[in-house]
Amino acid sequence: MEVVTQQALPLMEAFYTLQGEGYYQGQAAYFIRLGGCDVGCVWCDVKDSWDATQHPLTPIEAIVDKALQHPARLVVITGGEPLMYDLTSLTQALKEAGFQINVETSGAYPLSGHLDWICFSPKKFKAPLEEFFQASHELKVVIYHTSDLAWAASLAAKMHDDCTLYLQPEWSKANQMLPLIVDYVKLHPRWRVSLQTHKYMEIP
Ligand code: SF4
Repeated sequence: MEVVTQQALPLMEAFYTLQGEGYYQGQAAYFIRLGGCDVGCVWCDVKDSWDATQHPLTPIEAIVDKALQHPARLVVITGGEPLMYDLTSLTQALKEAGFQINVETSGAYPLSGHLDWICFSPKKFKAPLEEFFQASHELKVVIYHTSDLAWAASLAAKMHDDCTLYLQPEWSKANQMLPLIVDYVKLHPRWRVSLQTHKYMEIP
């Protein structure tokens, strides 16, 4: 699909909460969830995001104005797959408003915009672009099946040395996968465990 540059983006939802996962786990953040994704993860927990036409095209100024109503100056742009869109205009407006801008992406679409922190979470269902292996700050691999650990190792081998590496059990498989992940991290200490702590806390 062609990347679209626009002053309005399909906004599925936006909400103020704590980042539950990865490097920024526990920090207050305003989440901007854009609609649209064609990656097709079988275990996706936001399948309602996939069809961008189901989500209202929302002007960038309106998105930023709502973000400013909360005290944290950290935004997380997520989806869906937010990089299906050219994020230049949105991130410029957020930057001018004083936000740190983090993005959560599968890496299936080109980087765009001013991004302070890239959480790269590639999926087996659609290969990521090469640029993410050098540009990302955080690699987060969701572990749904035992074989995903070998796949995670192959991804880590391509990341730059300063990238923080996380293994995160897929929520519905957490009981089975977590013991394997714990053992793996003990053997391969460059990795860390990421849990979806927002789900344990029962917050968005
Ligand atoms: S990339 Fe994310 S939004 Fe898209 S299908 Fe996978 S988990 Fe769902």
